[in-house]
Amino acid sequence: MTALAYLEQTDGAVDEPSLQAATMASSLGGGAEVHAVVAADTAALAPAGQLPVDAVQVAVHEAFGSYAPLAVAEAVVELAGRLGATCVVGPGTERGNEVLAHVAALLDLPLAANCVAVADADARVTRVRWGGSLLEEARVDAPTLLLTVQPHAVAAEPGAGDPPSVETFTPTLSEAALALRVVERVAAATGGVSLADARVVVSGGRGAGSEEGFAPIEELAELLEAAVGCSRAVTMAGWRPHTDQVGQTGTKIAPEIYIACGISGATQHMAGCKGAKRILAINADREAPILQSADYAVIGDLHEVVPAISAAIRAARSG
Ligand SMILES: Cc1cc2nc3c(=O)[nH]c(=O)nc-3n(C[C@H](O)[C@H](O)[C@H](O)COP(=O)(O)OP(=O)(O)OC[C@H]3O[C@@H](n4cnc5c(N)ncnc54)[C@H](O)[C@@H]3O)c2cc1C
Repeated sequence: MTALAYLEQTDGAVDEPSLQAATMASSLGGGAEVHAVVAADTAALAPAGQLPVDAVQVAVHEAFGSYAPLAVAEAVVELAGRLGATCVVGPGTERGNEVLAHVAALLDLPLAANCVAVADADARVTRVRWGGSLLEEARVDAPTLLLTVQPHAVAAEPGAGDPPSVETFTPTLSEAALALRVVERVAAATGGVSLADARVVVSGGRGAGSEEGFAPIEELAELLEAAVGCSRAVTMAGWRPHTDQVGQTGTKIAPEIYIACGISGATQHMAGCKGAKRILAINADREAPILQSADYAVIGDLHEVVPAISAAIRAARSG
């Protein structure tokens, strides 16, 4: 099996999930050469450090100065073809999964995303499904095994032998691929407390009723120096930005306490907050699924309960 690892760089260095993907790729090599590919807009941006691979190919193109997933995928496919790779491994990050999904579409092959273990003898993979709520075992029936590695499921190991050779190549990219790229970045407006790192998160769901319905939630968050979160129903309605979304397709949080207001507790939402030490659910429905995971619950209208909590906090502080 000739393995090719697709590596991402953060601030000019190969990042940790990519090192883990390279480690997985090197375990699949079966003694054959293991290669890695990095996309960069300058050859000077060669990856640093001791990678657990034999050779690194830097795909150099000005398009790689910003995120261009289809262009990166075309470069990966070109190199995989030239190497005769029978296995392509990427990091199971949002971008890694997107690039490998494009690779799979270009090759018309299946992709096994977010794998935690792979037995290369029979292409049997174990992978995380449903936001981490189950592990699936599957056998991939394809001439080239395409997979991504669930971040932090595999320990990154540095290469034991000589440092890998580093070469560059200029990939041939289609016009369609060049059209798909990030052209601007707009920093998220945050209240200063990052959702992922917050010790307290106050979230609102569809039960908030509207964008304006978040006013009491924001007020409580400010009093508690908390971050404001929300469910996908809220981002889909356009009431809050996606950066506020907690869940499988949002941010994974691990606060001391998670205050979930008007959120039903769908599996995809709970996948994002199961790291919370305590959950306080405020919900009008005593049968809401979130109550099964909650440590504390208040059954009632959040538009009455949340302002009452804020008022009680103010009263306690002034008294
Ligand atoms: C592939 C996929 C990925 C997904 N990813 C995510 C994700 O990352 N994050 C996420 O959140 N969801 C995600 N979802 C959506 C998820 O399945 C649910 O649809 C969503 O979480 C529901 O949001 P909600 O709880 O706000 O709304 P609802 O399910 O409609 O629940 C609203 C709740 O508010 C309560 N309520 C109503 N009015 C009041 C009131 N006045 N006071 C108090 N309580 C009230 C209701 O009793 C109810 O429990 C995903 C779905 C799919 C298919």
